Amino acid sequence: MNTNTAMPRLDKLPVTVLKGVGERLATTLEKLNLRTVQDVLFHLPLRYLDRTRIVPLAELTAHSSVVVEGAVQRCDVVFGKRRSLVVTLADDSGQVCLRFFHFNAAQKNQLQVGRRVRCYGDPRLGASGLEFYHPEYEVLTAGSAYHNLEQTLTPVYPATEGINQKRLRQLASQALELMQVNPPQELLPAEVNAIFGSSSLSQALSYVHRPPPDAPVTQLLEGRHPLQQRLAFEEMLAHHLALQNSRLLARNEEAMWLETDPALQQRFYDSLPFPLTQAQQRVIQEIQTDLAAHHPMLRLVQGDVGSGKTLVAATAALAALSQGQQVALVAPTEILAEQHRINFENWLTPFGFKVAWLVGRLTAKQKRETLEAIATGDTHVVVGTHALFEDTVLFARLGLIIIDEQHRFGVHQRLTLRSKSHSSMRPHQLVMTATPIPRTLAMTAYADLDLSVIDELPPGRTPVNTVLVSQQRRDDVINRVRTACNEGRQVYWVCTLVEDSETLAATAAEEIAQHLAETLPEVSIGLVHGRLKSLEKEQTMTAFKTGQTQLLVATTVIEVGVDVPNASLMIIENPERLGLAQLHQLRGRVGRGSIASHCVLLYGHPLSKVAKQRLQVMRTTSDGFVIAEEDLKIRGPGELLGKRQTGAIEFRLADLLRDAHLLSTVHSTADQILHHNPEIVTKIIIRWFANHQDYVKG
Ligand code: ADP
Ligand code: MG
Repeated sequence: MNTNTAMPRLDKLPVTVLKGVGERLATTLEKLNLRTVQDVLFHLPLRYLDRTRIVPLAELTAHSSVVVEGAVQRCDVVFGKRRSLVVTLADDSGQVCLRFFHFNAAQKNQLQVGRRVRCYGDPRLGASGLEFYHPEYEVLTAGSAYHNLEQTLTPVYPATEGINQKRLRQLASQALELMQVNPPQELLPAEVNAIFGSSSLSQALSYVHRPPPDAPVTQLLEGRHPLQQRLAFEEMLAHHLALQNSRLLARNEEAMWLETDPALQQRFYDSLPFPLTQAQQRVIQEIQTDLAAHHPMLRLVQGDVGSGKTLVAATAALAALSQGQQVALVAPTEILAEQHRINFENWLTPFGFKVAWLVGRLTAKQKRETLEAIATGDTHVVVGTHALFEDTVLFARLGLIIIDEQHRFGVHQRLTLRSKSHSSMRPHQLVMTATPIPRTLAMTAYADLDLSVIDELPPGRTPVNTVLVSQQRRDDVINRVRTACNEGRQVYWVCTLVEDSETLAATAAEEIAQHLAETLPEVSIGLVHGRLKSLEKEQTMTAFKTGQTQLLVATTVIEVGVDVPNASLMIIENPERLGLAQLHQLRGRVGRGSIASHCVLLYGHPLSKVAKQRLQVMRTTSDGFVIAEEDLKIRGPGELLGKRQTGAIEFRLADLLRDAHLLSTVHSTADQILHHNPEIVTKIIIRWFANHQDYVKG
């Protein structure tokens, strides 16, 4: 390695200077957005494996990477919804299941009762409580040498196909060596470094990549070590600066001035079967004020499930439409997009506006025609899914973008939509979410957005009465379904995902629908899951909405947005597999009419104490904020605002909840930098987010 004086800065050194990196590996690294040595340095461990100690089985918690060791108690092939090999391990403290959906005879043979097994992995909540799915394991036979445990924490880097952890660790080591002679520029004010007791950025980077043997394991695993916090701080700062920047840029951009024709608005309101709530009126007012300015609106509307966000969105759309502008509405699932299309058609076609539909499953011809109508301006509103982000989508004059369930999309996805108009004007943006986020967090997660809250539900809603029932009492529950259907009510029966697989959930839903059809021959049953064609889904949903079917068996595809006021009973199978926020969303499908509604959480048996405690929260409250906070307390930080829940931010290290105590310093440091050192703003952003081009450009 050439380490003499004139070495270029690490952000100028391509990855190919690293040993073992040729063109091919460089291409693979590019997929991880690693182009320079500095990128490798800032490619931080996602987590660590603690292979320094064996965890007693009684102390296991979900989603933590551990080593466990125990003797095989049982090893059976189980024929459930899907064939699996289930191995029960026990130690002095307790037991746990390892579950393999793919296995062979040799494996089964090897895992004989009585054998000692060491297993590495992260247990998740499964049918029997915490389970390891397809863990890495080792059978410790008397003859084989016992492997020693590791001395230090093992870093795990974000990886991709074609590169493994071992190689990533080697590359990080080389980058760290280069850093010793050519440290990255210090961008934080010295007093900020001091807060974390660190002397330099290099020190923090070395530590986080290669924790020394005496490092405090728990603190590091939780991401609370001061040197991790030092980096998390800089990352949050970069994020905040990027959003502030794009907000400032938006202020300087031109957008269409959109004012709703008051007569049109009045006619629209008159066409609705109900008056708007106070909260809806207030939020609409806030939106209209934004739209009547000459720069683009960037507003987040937060409102609990059922608070009536769709209508607020439609009213905003009306402003754009009445000025001859087009509107794009994006939803995370086809079913939800479909429902929006139906609502928007019902509400807006009477006023002469055309609503089109763009989802992945259209035929080539339909798609071509729709794209054409969007490009010529023939169609006024386009409702769709991710398909709307595709390059081929171009609008004649896009005035307003509406994104529903914002937490399902990433910032950069939202940003790509902005440049889809032929017109030189920037479209306004309205994003909506039902995820309750405490205000301070919202300010950071969505620092480029103004916030409106719909804090009131339409009148006449009765709170949903929630009960916990064991699957052992399934027959009682089926009887309840029968009674409800006989009384003319409608019922949802929701099947949850096993192992994040919509395919498995679909199979489970089919089996349950089959069983219910046999037990309840007098009830008409619909079945909807992610594997159906969209036409089939649409037909099933329509049949349920119009009351032709009484019982809808569904996977969690119905999670967001579906609206059937006559449905007053919901059964959720294995609610313990879901987060509380998700259960809250699901449950929001009932209690939309004036009839008293019920939700039965049909939990799997046996249920761990913690899982039961979690589910109890659903019984006692229907306030989305309280539920989110309880979820947070019980599940720990990271889950609520984690990447999967919000999709909003992809942090490497920072965790907005865990690190919330840093926020006010992040904000004040950002202000200070924006005012006194604007020249380093881009440097900080690029260092952390170079991969998100839109993000960097603002
Ligand atoms: P969410 O905020 O969860 O998206 P929706 O927009 O789907 O909620 O609205 C839920 C239901 O409430 C829909 O049936 C909608 O027609 C109805 N709704 C919306 N606003 C009002 C209102 N002001 N009064 C009565 N019902 C309303
Ligand atoms: Mg909605």
